[in-house]
Amino acid sequence: MLKRILGSYSQGRPGPLLICTVGLHGNEWAGVEALQLLLAMLEDELVANPSFEFFGKLVAIAGNIPALKIKQRYVNCDLNRIWNQRNFENPGNEVEFGEMVKVKQVIDDLILEWGGENIYLFDLHTTTAEGGIFLLPTLEEQSISIAKTMHAPIIIGLVEKLNGTMVKYYAEKQDADITALVFEAGQHDDPLSVNRTIAAVINCIRTIGSVAPDDIDNRFEQLLIDYARDLPVMARFLHGHHIAPDDGFVMKPGYKNFDPISRGEVLAQDRYGSIKSDFSGMILMPLYQNKGDDGFFIIEKIQ
Ligand SMILES: [Zn+2]
Repeated sequence: MLKRILGSYSQGRPGPLLICTVGLHGNEWAGVEALQLLLAMLEDELVANPSFEFFGKLVAIAGNIPALKIKQRYVNCDLNRIWNQRNFENPGNEVEFGEMVKVKQVIDDLILEWGGENIYLFDLHTTTAEGGIFLLPTLEEQSISIAKTMHAPIIIGLVEKLNGTMVKYYAEKQDADITALVFEAGQHDDPLSVNRTIAAVINCIRTIGSVAPDDIDNRFEQLLIDYARDLPVMARFLHGHHIAPDDGFVMKPGYKNFDPISRGEVLAQDRYGSIKSDFSGMILMPLYQNKGDDGFFIIEKIQ
């Protein structure tokens, strides 16, 4: 049985609140496994290292539990595209609206408990395509500076273009000071996606001051450094291809994240014909599953 709150860790010392969300998409189990392992590691840390100090609190929250059970992206609709006021006031009957209300309640209660300040939201995902780990910070300075500690490519401007994501909702929340960002840890079923997620969360708790820099296991960090060696440091959003349900969208096979593409290149087909790129750049998150509203994104390397 998967619980909404997968676990939490605190030593009762003041400090930041870090909320990690995993499995907003039900086929992304790597994040769930990673947070379960990390919470167990934190519990053990005090046994091996009695002087280990943790400031603030880490809470891991499971997203779309019904979709996780069937290992599919979603049951009725994408849980990470429906976070807006209209849906809070009048949630539909779809499974995901119920999940959104439950996740939001847990997070809102935590924010309230913490007094609305010194709060971080780290939303953890994996992708269908191979070839990429990356961070999606908001345009907020603190979000970008946390992203910079991860050794992985940073994509600027994508969070702002995706409507109805949980991270965008909390980043824009007016009555609380929340720094939010997204990490994509690699391919859904790659076992190393679990380790890379652990590394990213450890980097995050170090950066926000929950632990002393040398006080926690660094062995996973090299995985991020090795993986991102040939990837861009920073890129910016250029274009996103949105799919309507009856488009019959099929991505051309073989694309990996960060593959270079040229203007005019045929990227996919749908019932209207070939979909050609209007830009030269790199491809991100090409859709190779039958569920999803975004066919692909095009980004441009800036560093
Ligand atoms: Zn996802």
